Formats: sequence, structure tokens, C-alpha cells
Amino acid sequence: MQDAQISFTPAQQGQQIALGEQMTFAVVLSEADTAAVNWERGGFTVGQALSYDYVPDHLGLDTLRVFARAGDVARNYYWVITVGPGSTTLPPPVTGISAEAGPEAGEVLVSWARVTPTTYPIDEYVVAVSFDGPISAANWDAATELGRVPYRAGAVRPQDVYGAADGMIPGAAVWFAVRAVDTLDQLSPIVGNGYTVVTTGWWLSGTVLDDTDAELPGIVVSLVDPVRSTNTDLNGRFRIGPLRSIDRVVLRTTSSSENGFGWYDYTSAELDSVSGRDLVVRLIKRHELDDACNGYSQQFLTFLREMSITEYVATDPQSSVLHVWDDFPLRVHIPDVVVGEVDFGAAMRFAMAYWDSVMGESYFVETTDPAQAQLQCRFDESISGVYGRVSLLQPGGGTLGSVPLEKLQVFILSTIGTEKFARTVSLHELGHTLGLYNHVACGGGEYLMFEGLAGDTLDRLDPINPNERQAVQCLRRLPTGTDMRRYAIAN
Ligand SMILES: [Zn+2]
Repeated sequence: MQDAQISFTPAQQGQQIALGEQMTFAVVLSEADTAAVNWERGGFTVGQALSYDYVPDHLGLDTLRVFARAGDVARNYYWVITVGPGSTTLPPPVTGISAEAGPEAGEVLVSWARVTPTTYPIDEYVVAVSFDGPISAANWDAATELGRVPYRAGAVRPQDVYGAADGMIPGAAVWFAVRAVDTLDQLSPIVGNGYTVVTTGWWLSGTVLDDTDAELPGIVVSLVDPVRSTNTDLNGRFRIGPLRSIDRVVLRTTSSSENGFGWYDYTSAELDSVSGRDLVVRLIKRHELDDACNGYSQQFLTFLREMSITEYVATDPQSSVLHVWDDFPLRVHIPDVVVGEVDFGAAMRFAMAYWDSVMGESYFVETTDPAQAQLQCRFDESISGVYGRVSLLQPGGGTLGSVPLEKLQVFILSTIGTEKFARTVSLHELGHTLGLYNHVACGGGEYLMFEGLAGDTLDRLDPINPNERQAVQCLRRLPTGTDMRRYAIAN
């Protein structure tokens, strides 16, 4: 009997195949009908028939071995098979990739839509970043892999956060690609990127002062979103951060509400990384109102609002906006008018010096140039029925307290018969120019700003009531344009 011959097909030992395809390898016999055959992959027997249908199960190199024996003849053979990606079996592309600011400054939150497996199960997602432009399949190798996120069927929108430790650079433009990885290590195609700019950090900072310029220690300064809180230091300083460059925050103070000792708390407008630096947060002290005053619910803030005409009226959103001078001293032009015994210019200069002296800082300075004057004095009989009146010269058309101040007229009736009363009226009218636009409605007590001005006002111990002085000092320190609704009676 002639010896059997054994050969193998395909004869070429290097083979290429794509995932999803299959290839048949066979033992070819001559002079024999049967043979004992053993096919092996990865050390395991995978078949014992004369032919074997090879189906790749991973990317890269694979080895298929076969042993065949027919009669006395035994042979073995092997093929090295390069497995490439099969276009039809790739995981579906990851869509809906979003990159946005993470919870902390310098962090990026990347999220994407869950992939539904098609051919093979999905193992995980791989996330990569580029600082140079969008990531495609072509430049995938140049992108930096950030990490892998395990696939969970229940995770509808998988996500991860990347920060400084992952190489995120504050202020840098970043592109993210996410690819699904199947159990064969195949990567899904890339159809889109997530793009953002990494947030930078900023610190909200400032000083809490009150209306007497005292630096306030131990005041709680807090934010709601994000929730942050700190206490001012011994110099009233505070610092909160780092916040994200995209954050717009509202600051609130919490201080003592004790009457006479505490402060009216403040809520800021929306602050950003520019407007939120080196703030001066001005609290209004809860000055005690005069014992004899039975108005204003014993609240200095209510007194201040009524005097400066900043009580909020629902029909007028601008009603609570404060209009006062920001820069002092005010330039005053004083004409020379002497009527009988009364030197009206001298009376006005007395009143200016009196305010400056009582307040301990300069409020008024005389100018000889009417064009430079912010307060233009007028001593004549052009207005009847009053001893004095302050009115707007510029801007025209507005009413005192409801428009920004440019130029005021200070009228004193020139038929006032005594210099003492001319001084008293001048003192009162200058009070109006300092933001006490209204008249005091205390029902008691001794106030300069009563409508029915007392002739003996200058004989009093305090011709200008402490509450009036406190209000003027406060109004000088509040920036014009302040919305007085930012201050609260209740803590
Ligand atoms: Zn008046």
C-alpha cells in the first residue's frame, strides 16, 4: 500500500482577514480517506474535522495550528493570521459628546450618549484630548488618552471629569473624542468632538466697611451658587475661591441685627471675575433713632430711605436707586448779596463751614466761577412762599432724588430779616444738597430738616441731629446708583 500524503490549504502561511469575515483552512489527503486531525488556537483544541472555518475573535496577530495523522504519516502545519478591523463589525460611533465646565475651576466635565452594541459587546469607552484641534481617526494617535470609562448598560449618559492632574490647562481650548471599545478591542469610528475652553479660577475678594468707615471683622460673607462662606478678618477683608471663570455669583452678608450696634445686611448684584475683585461692601449701621422720634418704626434704614427718597415703589423699579454726589467737596458759587443788615453770602459761608466742622470732613468749597459750580446760590425773591429751596438746574426736567445730580440751585429768600435766620435756612438747604431731600417726619425731637424750621435751631446743643449727621455720612459713602433694596431691615 502506498503511503498516504498530507498537505494543507491554503498553502501560504501568512494570511490576512478582517473581523466579521471567515476563512476555511483544510487538511488535504491523498491515498487516504480519513485522518485524525486536531485544530488548535491559543493552546486549545477548536476542531477535529478535516476543515476548519476560522472566525477571528480579536484584532492583531493570531496563530492557527493543525496536526493530522493518516496511517503512518503525521504532519503539522500553522498559519499566522493578521486580523484587521472589519468595517461592518465596529462598535457604533459615540455621539452627543459634550465638554463643559466641571465642578471646580480648571476642570472639564465630558459626557456622551450611551452606545448600543451592535456586533460585539462593548467593554468600555476611551476618552482622548487634543489641544491642537479636533480629533479624527487620522490623528487619533497624536491625541492624549485621558482614561477609560467602563461600559454600563444602565448609564444613559456616561461622564468623567478631567482636571489639572489629567493635563487640563486653565484657559486652553480643548477637544475631546470618545470611542467605544468592544470585546475585540475594536474602536468605534469618530463622528464628532466635544469642545470647550478650560475654566480659569478667580477669587471673590473685598473689604466689608460700614458707613463710618469702620472695618468690620467677623461678618459672614456667603454665596448661594456655588455654596461658599467665609468670615471677614480683623481688617474686614474676605476672600472666596477659587471660583470658575464662568461663575456669576451673588454675595450676601450676615451680621449682627442688634439695634444701635449691628448692621443692615447687604445683597450684591451679580458679580463676575472682573466686578467681583477688591469689592468694597458697605454695610449700614443700625444707628439708633432719636428717643423723641416716633416715626420710621425705629429703623435708621427706613429713616435713610425716606430722607433720600429711595423707598421702593412697585410701579417704579428705579424708585429705590440712590442719587447722591460721589465726590466732595462740592463747589459752591456764592453771589454778593447784602440786604439791610443781612449778608447772605456770609450766612451761606457760615453754614458751609458749620457742616464741615460738625461732620469732621470737607463737604463744601467756594468757587468764583459759576460755570464750575455744583451748587449755585441765589439770594432774591424769585420763589415765593418759602424761605429757601433746593432745585435741580441740571439735568433739566428731573426731580431731586430721582435723577443723577449735576448742578443744583440753592435759593434763599432775600427778605429774611436776620443774619441768624439766614444762617439757619442756609444750613437747612445745604442739608438738602447732601442727599436729605425730604423733611424729617419724626413727630418729635429736634431736627434741622423739619419742614417748619425752628428759629432757635442754632441755639440747640445739636443744631444738626445725630441721625441727620449719620445719614449724611452714610450717603457720602454709598456710591451713587446704589439700589437701596440691596439693604434689608431683617437679617
Ligand atoms: Zn426743606
